[in-house]
Amino acid sequence: MSLSQQQDRQHCFHPFSNYHQLNRDGARVIVKGEGIYVYDEQGNKILDAMAGLWCVNLGYSAKPLIEAAQKQFNTLPYYNLFFQTTHSPAAKLAAKLAEITPAKLNHVFFTGSGSECNDTVLRTVRHYWACLGQPQKQIVISRDNAYHGSTMAGASLGGMKPMHAQGGLPIPGIVHIPQPYHFGEGQGVDVEMFGQQRAQLLEQKILELGVENVAAFIAEPIQGAGGVIIPPDSYWPEIQRICDHYGILLIVDEVICGFGRTGEWFASQTYAITPDLMCLAKGITSGYLPLGAVMVSDRIAQVLQEHDDEFTHGFTYSGHPVACAVALATIEEMEKNHLVEKVRNDIAPYLAQKWLALAEHPLVGEARIKGMMAAIELVENKATLKRYNKTKAAGTLCRNICVSNGLIMRAVGDTMIIAPPLIISKAEVDELIQLAWQCLDQTY
Ligand code: PLP
Repeated sequence: MSLSQQQDRQHCFHPFSNYHQLNRDGARVIVKGEGIYVYDEQGNKILDAMAGLWCVNLGYSAKPLIEAAQKQFNTLPYYNLFFQTTHSPAAKLAAKLAEITPAKLNHVFFTGSGSECNDTVLRTVRHYWACLGQPQKQIVISRDNAYHGSTMAGASLGGMKPMHAQGGLPIPGIVHIPQPYHFGEGQGVDVEMFGQQRAQLLEQKILELGVENVAAFIAEPIQGAGGVIIPPDSYWPEIQRICDHYGILLIVDEVICGFGRTGEWFASQTYAITPDLMCLAKGITSGYLPLGAVMVSDRIAQVLQEHDDEFTHGFTYSGHPVACAVALATIEEMEKNHLVEKVRNDIAPYLAQKWLALAEHPLVGEARIKGMMAAIELVENKATLKRYNKTKAAGTLCRNICVSNGLIMRAVGDTMIIAPPLIISKAEVDELIQLAWQCLDQTY
């Protein structure tokens, strides 16, 4: 075991890692990143088809981001936005975000992460209704198998059962409805009808709880960590109709989907959603530094500002100047290289064509993709789409085979998922797909 592995084993308490596997094998030590590849201590070159944790959209060698950080470190390495203070990187980034996000989102509350964004929206929507004289309007409706982060509010808003099993979650006032997961839960039902039905469960839940008690609905446009669950086209229009009809605030968690992943700057544009609040993180800095941003609509910002002297909420690293400078450089780099257009018109269609062909593999029951996020479902029986009995068995095996073949794919149960850096070239897509076939063959 290397020194890093020994120190890690003795002292690192890992997020989302299997203790037994860690103790048996030691952690994989990543020493370098270059383009879309990472390198481990043994010198293995690994194609990172997950862009780290869905964040390194510009790959590991984006010089302008590094230079922007260096420049900002030399000027003002830290300051905050508390107590009537600001600085130019935060102000400039806020203006830029207001420009590129959907029209009514013109106010930004900076955080340090996606989880902090979701804590922030929970407080914001509850406080908003209290300001309007409806303090009982507190419940936020979310979805089973959603992921909204790991803080108490984030994990409660999320619908991950294994997370709720630890630490007394969810906190009160959060309820979940089923997800629009056609392959997993809608077999035999027409896809679009299924999308409608799943959206209408929101309406049923609002009526059951009483509209006077419901503050908001929160969702990822495409569920990421839940297994790249791409909703049927009928789903979002119906959700939007229901939120509009009942006057329920719509919170869109674009922590994964934002910044080009679906072929538009934001998935709200892909699905024609008009959110009241939007959570951003990850791709905002291409993962180079921690930063989150909650986009707040004019209406909500106005109500909050008119009601109180201050919003008693904030984080030491809300609007960290170096993170903001890197975010500005990220957006600038994406604009300069027309990256979103390239994703939409060129690389995502190319990846889709190759990825969807994986459905031919005897182990694959479904292949699906939207923009640059994709999944395949591993099945025991391709004809009946029966899954393996022991959940996780095939997915974990396939994931481990992938890593030893030089490919990072993620396993969510028996669903294999990817979200590669947006800068991936066609030749690298070919390599990714060739490795995926090889690993499926070895898993089969
Ligand atoms: N929201 C979504 C949709 C996410 O996928 C994640 C992380 O994967 C989060 C929130 C939490 O973000 P963070 O890990 O930065 O707290």
